[in-house]
Amino acid sequence: MEATTRKEETATGTVEVRIPTPLRSWTQGAARTRARGDNVAEVLRDLTQQFPGLRVHLLTEDGRVRNFVSIFLNDEDIRYLDRERTPVRPGDVLTIVPSIAGGSPGAVAYPSLTRGRPGTTATPSTTKLTPEQMKRYSRHLILPDVGLEGQRKLLASKVLVVGAGGLGSPLALYLAAAGVGTIGLVDFDVVDPSNLQRQILYGTSDVGRPKLEAAERRLRDLNPDVTVVRHEVRLTSQNALDIVAKYDVVVDGTDNFPTRYLVNDACVLLKRPNVYGSIYRFEGQVSVFDARRGPCYRCLYPEPPPPGLVPSCAEGGVMGLLPGLVGTLQGIETLKILLGKGDPLIGRLLLVDALGTSFRELKVRKNPDCPLCGPQPTQKTLIDYEQFCGLGPASAPDPTAEISARELKTWIEEGKPLTLLDVREPMEWELGHLPGARHIPRAVIPERLGELSTAEDIVVYCKMGGRSAETVRFLRSLGYSRVKSLRGGLDAWSQEVDPTFPTY
Ligand code: ZN
Repeated sequence: MEATTRKEETATGTVEVRIPTPLRSWTQGAARTRARGDNVAEVLRDLTQQFPGLRVHLLTEDGRVRNFVSIFLNDEDIRYLDRERTPVRPGDVLTIVPSIAGGSPGAVAYPSLTRGRPGTTATPSTTKLTPEQMKRYSRHLILPDVGLEGQRKLLASKVLVVGAGGLGSPLALYLAAAGVGTIGLVDFDVVDPSNLQRQILYGTSDVGRPKLEAAERRLRDLNPDVTVVRHEVRLTSQNALDIVAKYDVVVDGTDNFPTRYLVNDACVLLKRPNVYGSIYRFEGQVSVFDARRGPCYRCLYPEPPPPGLVPSCAEGGVMGLLPGLVGTLQGIETLKILLGKGDPLIGRLLLVDALGTSFRELKVRKNPDCPLCGPQPTQKTLIDYEQFCGLGPASAPDPTAEISARELKTWIEEGKPLTLLDVREPMEWELGHLPGARHIPRAVIPERLGELSTAEDIVVYCKMGGRSAETVRFLRSLGYSRVKSLRGGLDAWSQEVDPTFPTY
């Protein structure tokens, strides 16, 4: 596509000019057009001759680019090149980037641009919105792609948010603010102090309360038009179809693979769009899976990673603002689907890199052999997702490979000779560790096996018991028969043995 465009431009000797949304009223709605010239000034002159209405917005009386307009030649701001005299070549792309004033009433730094496109303004006589709603949704009502009709659609829409955590927080807040009429929330947790770094639905006074109780209060305060439906359950194969069937769109904000596959499969079976988002440390992913129009989650990831391979955010950490960004992107996709506007991320996976501040897009294709959404589906109902993800009874931990926090305390008090092995990351070790423990991060255990003896009793621990169980399975497979994992990790130690031990 890109290559074809370039070839055509080379052939006609023109430069592609990308027009920002606020200026498209003067280009008959065109987002991109072409203009001729050997340098930026000549291209802009040709452009404003083709579209005379643009001139006042782009150029001063003497033909210079206005201060509040940035012009990029390919990736470079012309201010850092040779400004208007910067030479252009066939195939180059000139992008006009106007300054935007943010949330102020003008919204755009062009006073004359604030008028809407003709013919799209809502007629008050046909409205059934109350005067309060007219006021509340006014910024939507004057927005060409929403308007009165769009706002009515939103008020009649039902969205299911699976997981009221980091992603679900901004999502639910923005969907409620936007006037999505019914928001279902699935979560059964209580608010923990460690949630508050990113789960902006909750405040300090909510700690210890059920999340959905706190969420409903916050969302109803934000917008009394919204009906909040609380599903205070774990989503399972038994209840998922009944719950999902009640909604138009499902947004996946979960933190575990079994639920992700369950949400996907229920959405495919019930023909519902599934707005997917995931986060880890500084990176996120966003896509829209709609098997009627594109791939599903299984087309992208046919199989889950083995348990323990991909650490959870509780183990690997997550930058507090990242779920805000990813959850908001999911919210934008949701609104577009409900309104039937724009290009949803169907068949595209957006990669968000907060550290590099970069967004990359990958094509996701429909897998012709997908067991669920392919032409010959082999799976026509929900399955056991714990088992599918390797977490089922088949892989339940061997009781002899575990030790409880209380048992470990007894062993230590009795003076039993043993090695305490901490397999967490160095940063976690620095936050606190058990006295006398040895530290070998899980990733380097294979190369430091020489430091461990098969003749000693070893108790492996981590934060929650997942990484230590994984390490024990690995060590036992190598003949370390006297190695055990601390069940529940340091969290359990803090709860059952030593409440003063710092948890994080
Ligand atoms: Zn599929």
